[in-house]
Amino acid sequence: MSPLDTQRPVLLHDIRVLDGGMASELEYLGANINGPLWSAHVLEDAPEKIVAVHRAYIEAGADIIETASYQVSRMGYAEFGLDPGRADAALLRSVALAREAADALPSRRILIAASLGPYGAALHNGAEYHGNYTCTFNDLIEFHRQRINVLAAAPPAQTPDLLAFETLPSLAEAEAIGQALAPHPELAVWFTFTCPDREHVAHGESLRQCATAVAAFPQTVAIGVNCTHPALLPALIAELRAASDKPIIVYPNSGEDWDAQARCWTGTSEPEAYGVKAAQWFAAGAQIIGGCCRTRPAHIHEVNQVAPH
Ligand SMILES: [Zn+2]
Repeated sequence: MSPLDTQRPVLLHDIRVLDGGMASELEYLGANINGPLWSAHVLEDAPEKIVAVHRAYIEAGADIIETASYQVSRMGYAEFGLDPGRADAALLRSVALAREAADALPSRRILIAASLGPYGAALHNGAEYHGNYTCTFNDLIEFHRQRINVLAAAPPAQTPDLLAFETLPSLAEAEAIGQALAPHPELAVWFTFTCPDREHVAHGESLRQCATAVAAFPQTVAIGVNCTHPALLPALIAELRAASDKPIIVYPNSGEDWDAQARCWTGTSEPEAYGVKAAQWFAAGAQIIGGCCRTRPAHIHEVNQVAPH
């Protein structure tokens, strides 16, 4: 057994609660997140607001927090005439801000996961929710390789504990990430997919097939689902359990529905109701639960209340 094999299970030991949504929480704090590069704007102009959101989630009970870097990539920045060095710096800065929030509570063990959105997130057109990209497989590898290399070479204060490849729409993108990770067996990574139904990822492959594929990568420490309607979770957790024995991580949306025609959210999501569902997801086999779009610290507080610590 290599040292990595013995350390990996320890990394997520006792880790149960992930944080919730970043963008909506920044809005509540008065940050201007309009525009496709909202995170860049806030990372550079109002870093204290990002630290405040991290602190709110840690105080709500999160054991892992995700960096505010979902849309940070060289390709996304280049589209707006921004220098690749600025994207790399923003990625590292996002880790430093999360670390700053975690270090303020030294009695707690808080992990930092670098949020790495899919290729579609850098296109700013919702392509991550269908995964029908026009790029080549090599373009996908290169897109992910750039951010992996920056994080793998980061100084300790800007090094995350894990890399979170999230809102993945397709098997092809997961396989491209596996290739981009190959030179870095020492990294710890989770893969979470976005699913429109009880069985498939957005592009149409089965979640079971995707989970089986990523379970084979030496870096994989957890596999799951995010940015998905919570009603689908029990069936999707069963698919993940059938695919591998890796820890399962789920962070669905709040339960509100996006009305694309009216361009607004409809329905409601009570934090208490989210906690009741989270208890069912823990019982079904999820090890780590957080929240994605429209979830807030109150939701994470409820998750922490039902987490089997
Ligand atoms: Zn989401």
